[in-house]
Amino acid sequence: MKVGYVSYEVAPFAKVGGLADVAGALPKYLEKIGEDVYVIMPFHSIIEKKFDTSKFTLEKEEMYPNSHSYNKPFSLYSYFLPNSNVKIYFIKNSDIFGKDVYEKEDERLALQSSYFSDGVLSVVKEFEKDTEVLNINDWQTAIISVYLKINYFEDSILGKISTVLTIHNLGYQGIFPPEMLEIIGLPTYLYNVDALEFYGNINYLKGGILFADIINTVSKTYSEEIQTAEYGYKLDGVLRIRSDKLYGIINGIDYEKYNPLNEKNIFSKINDYSGKIKNKLSLQKLLKLPQKEDVPIISLISRLVDQKGLDLVKEVSNYLLLYDVQLVILGTGQEGYENYFKKLQEKYPNKVSANIMFDEDLAFKIYAGSDMFLMPSKYEPCGLGQMYAMRYGTVPIVRYTGGLSDTVREYYNPNSGTGFGFYEYEPCKMLMAVSKALYQYKIKKDNWIKLFENIMKQDFSYENTAKQYKELYKMASSNKN
Ligand code: ADP
Repeated sequence: MKVGYVSYEVAPFAKVGGLADVAGALPKYLEKIGEDVYVIMPFHSIIEKKFDTSKFTLEKEEMYPNSHSYNKPFSLYSYFLPNSNVKIYFIKNSDIFGKDVYEKEDERLALQSSYFSDGVLSVVKEFEKDTEVLNINDWQTAIISVYLKINYFEDSILGKISTVLTIHNLGYQGIFPPEMLEIIGLPTYLYNVDALEFYGNINYLKGGILFADIINTVSKTYSEEIQTAEYGYKLDGVLRIRSDKLYGIINGIDYEKYNPLNEKNIFSKINDYSGKIKNKLSLQKLLKLPQKEDVPIISLISRLVDQKGLDLVKEVSNYLLLYDVQLVILGTGQEGYENYFKKLQEKYPNKVSANIMFDEDLAFKIYAGSDMFLMPSKYEPCGLGQMYAMRYGTVPIVRYTGGLSDTVREYYNPNSGTGFGFYEYEPCKMLMAVSKALYQYKIKKDNWIKLFENIMKQDFSYENTAKQYKELYKMASSNKN
């Protein structure tokens, strides 16, 4: 089956969050199980800074999106996902895809994503005519399903295509003023509650949910949670309407790229607990923390935003730091959290290392060098951090929500469980989960080492994920609405 995977960010070309990791890996694994897959993304300006783009092939100089009123052409480039034969197309228009992957200003964002979405369909029509399914991702490309059903349903090529909309995070929806409809080339009658209207605005993701043939999210638990008012971000009703077409498939991680037996991303390979200790001592040295083998390192690698449960961490960090522990933070985001962690480091220079930056190299050194990985998210569609942590033998401490529920099992004894966690979103509940982990680490070291060995045996590779997506694509093409 021919499948186009459409994403606004794709690692390693441009990465903001987990979506990029998925988009950079899943298509490769789909190809391995026999799918004929290609990828399309915007040619963000930052790509030129990071890559030698002279290797890219110019496919066509002047192309136009068919519906969009922003009537400036784009050029189409192509290349391959690293270590694969999966072709990736880049839609280039430097006026539209400016210096940041996501522009802040509302109108520009609306324009960027709809120009890209409509451009994708021009590319498919000319270069990938036999496409059967488009896997669109999040609000930035959700509008593709609306274009297909409203503007191109009679088109001999595009009219046959089914869509699978994957929701990686319902918290971001693409909400813009109704006037945008005309600019993006959609009829104004879509401004009604049964279509894109959303509390006086239009909502791109709502359009995707209503118009896609199949919808999925990135874990089974999250697919259920988002149908409730607590997690539904006002779209729970719309999701309940589509519940018979709503699935949950957990993401995987790239086991080839992130391999604890390969020293490329980390300090030294981890094939047993002594490897973990080597990484830990090197990490302490790098971050200028006291090099102590027996002091547990608790790490947190995350966008520093409310979603990630950082208010809980703020609330208890002074208590947490009464323990003999080291706390390593890597993240950027809301200024309040960035400043908070910087100050925490000033207050506890021997215990806290706050790295306010985006640095993938450092991230994997931290995954490999720490003992525990904290992820107390308020909500978490899938979460990759906990899986990377386990891959490198680092015990996750999580809030049981969304994908964290589906990937971490509570530790009861050395033969059962893969981490520690809590359900109620309360600081003391998080602190309790951390204390349970610290107890095992300090007092029951043999058990801890067994737990380390168990989590390294977990399988979060993409093979299984890819097989489930293949089924979803089959379903989409036979269930076209
Ligand atoms: P989200 O997509 O909500 O940001 P995920 O856990 O699904 O959360 O994915 C986050 C990804 O981004 C992980 O690969 C994590 O390692 C990475 N990451 C987050 N913050 C940073 C940072 N400051 N530096 C490097 N990598 C980061």
